Amino acid sequence: MSEAINVAEIFGQDVFNETVMQERLPKKIYKELKKTVEEGKELDLEIADVIAHEMKEWAIDKGATHYTHWFQPLTGVTAEKHDSFISAPLDSGKVLMSFSGKELIKGEPDASSFPSGGLRATFEARGYTAWDATSPAFVRHDSAGATLCIPTAFCSYTGEALDQKTPLLRSMEAINTQALRLVRLFGNMTAKKVTPSVGPEQEYFLVDADKFRQRKDLIYTGRTLFGAMPPKGQELDDHYFGTIKRRVAAFMKDLNVELWKLGVSAKTQHNEVAPAQHELAPIYAKVNVAVDHNQIIMQTLKRVAGQHNLKCLLHEKPFAGVNGSGKHNNWSLTTDDGKNLLEPGKTPHENIQFLLVLACILRAVDKHAALLRESAADPGNDHRLGANEAPPAIISVFLGEQLEDVVCQLVDTGEATTCKKGGKLETGVKTLPNLAKDATDRNRTSPFAFTGNKFEFRMVGSRDSIASPNTVINTIVAETFCDACDLLEKSEDFEKAVHDLIKDYMTEHQRIIFNGNGYSDEWVEEAERRGLPNIRSMVGAIPALVTDETVNLFERFKVFTRAELESRAEIKYENYAKAINIEARTMIDMASKQLIPAIMKYTKTLAETVIAVKEVGVSAQVQLAHLEEVSQLLEEAEKALNILWNVTEKASAMEEGQEQANYYHDSVIPAMEALRAPIDKLEMKVDKEAWPMPSYGDLLFEV
Ligand code: ADP
Ligand code: MG
Repeated sequence: MSEAINVAEIFGQDVFNETVMQERLPKKIYKELKKTVEEGKELDLEIADVIAHEMKEWAIDKGATHYTHWFQPLTGVTAEKHDSFISAPLDSGKVLMSFSGKELIKGEPDASSFPSGGLRATFEARGYTAWDATSPAFVRHDSAGATLCIPTAFCSYTGEALDQKTPLLRSMEAINTQALRLVRLFGNMTAKKVTPSVGPEQEYFLVDADKFRQRKDLIYTGRTLFGAMPPKGQELDDHYFGTIKRRVAAFMKDLNVELWKLGVSAKTQHNEVAPAQHELAPIYAKVNVAVDHNQIIMQTLKRVAGQHNLKCLLHEKPFAGVNGSGKHNNWSLTTDDGKNLLEPGKTPHENIQFLLVLACILRAVDKHAALLRESAADPGNDHRLGANEAPPAIISVFLGEQLEDVVCQLVDTGEATTCKKGGKLETGVKTLPNLAKDATDRNRTSPFAFTGNKFEFRMVGSRDSIASPNTVINTIVAETFCDACDLLEKSEDFEKAVHDLIKDYMTEHQRIIFNGNGYSDEWVEEAERRGLPNIRSMVGAIPALVTDETVNLFERFKVFTRAELESRAEIKYENYAKAINIEARTMIDMASKQLIPAIMKYTKTLAETVIAVKEVGVSAQVQLAHLEEVSQLLEEAEKALNILWNVTEKASAMEEGQEQANYYHDSVIPAMEALRAPIDKLEMKVDKEAWPMPSYGDLLFEV
């Protein structure tokens, strides 16, 4: 029997949360802090000093020696610079442990090597980090010791966002303001705040660390760049929800404990579709906390895997031909008095409000489909979207049979008076239907699916931060709420105005609704007829960041300036080019130094066999044919290697930017595929003993 875990006791034990603050902070200070957070103001330095002192004492009790401003630059991962608590030595030779309010609320990392897309050159060379007091600080224990981590936003000195967090917080402001206007129209005069909540389901692979270390592609790029399919793949679907292997179960147990201590409510775990693939879902939280927690989850997955001699692969497509990993971003919108705006309600008013919110979201997604697609773009996700395992690269919305029927009735006749199934909920308006609760069916192929009381955005890549998709969702919905409120606040007959607006939005944006099979070829054709964008690659998606429509949207709600958007587009092109460059060079390295030499050696053995067999007077036909076939493929590989080498040299000599990124996409990637093809065939022909690295079978089935 393993020792029992007292979850209630360990949950949040390493977090400077409400309970700790109430215990440790003087009442007045605690109240001030709460007030500042609620009003979104800057913290008074004297108050910050008291909080910092208590936070330090608490962290030292937990064993912390250092603190760090924990932030999320545009590299997709988190960054931190550690400072110890010690102050200058005293005359006695001793040191004091100190941590001031100033150090808590503001940091100045030497930020010059973080991507800024030219922003810092244009404005100001330095950057600073600022405490996001709405996300709690925590102490993280790892092999380097214990560190107090303070979630922060990262900006340039003139206030341009250099990170993922700042625009997310701005977008929360935007949707809060507009959603409050909307609920006021429906008579809710008490709500003070409307906040998006997010529950991201995280997929990942686990492989044995010893085998991982034998593959340079996994080490340098996080995915396999060569590899033939094993005899058994995922065709039986026997891994999905299957029994969890002992080694994996032991890993998951430790993982949960670590996450619970950090206040992350890890809830659901199961095996995924592909062999060696798993999923972890926390309970949903306010979106900025969910973003931080998702980063903590990704870091903890890697750290705990290491303790079990496993490696956690977060890449979107670690194995060709095997399902990749994504992140399902479940999004809803809740008032501080506990009403989820995406839940059909109990009163007539709430139901009309629900239909309006739905209509607004349809409009938002249709208007900004390309931008939403862009928010999930990263180099790894290009292998996944539209590959019959993840949603297609076309954005559409799944509503389920009942709601789609409501939309159709409204669009066709201006009235929707009947409801398909389920128990009824009153709207009290004769031209609007009574709604049935929980009548949504499941659809796994839709990128943006309504699932009863939330929307699930399924495009996000497994490795990516969920900050940017949520920044986009918050802002595009805020925009439509704003447009709707501008009209409705002026209306004389509110009931009629709401009805007309719902009908108008639904009519104009009905094309975005699709309830069928998103994996089918017919949908690709149908979507084209409807004029919906089908953006297949990251480089094709990036331009959506800087269209006039996008710039107007973000400037209107003060989420991004044009300069910030342009800098982000630039960084994305650079990141794309760098990622593909590393992959191409890793392939060149593996092919030249490991694979081709191993195959050559093997041909020598074959040639010797042919001679030896012939010497004893046997024809050696089979051996000879085998040698010829292998030599032929080897020649093909050698040619492809030269071409890949040439295009990669050319690509990396180009000036950074869109053109270079496109060249990587259009020329380098096909050259990589051309090299992979003969080598994967060779893997099936060459003696396993002679192959210089573990196969897909070894990696996927031997954890
Ligand atoms: P499934 O795999 O069927 O989609 P899961 O239970 O694995 O469902 O994951 C659902 C995720 O959605 C969880 O993270 C859950 O906390 C989250 N979730 C549930 N209700 C809401 C809500 N109202 N708003 C946002 N997220 C939610
Ligand atoms: Mg899901």
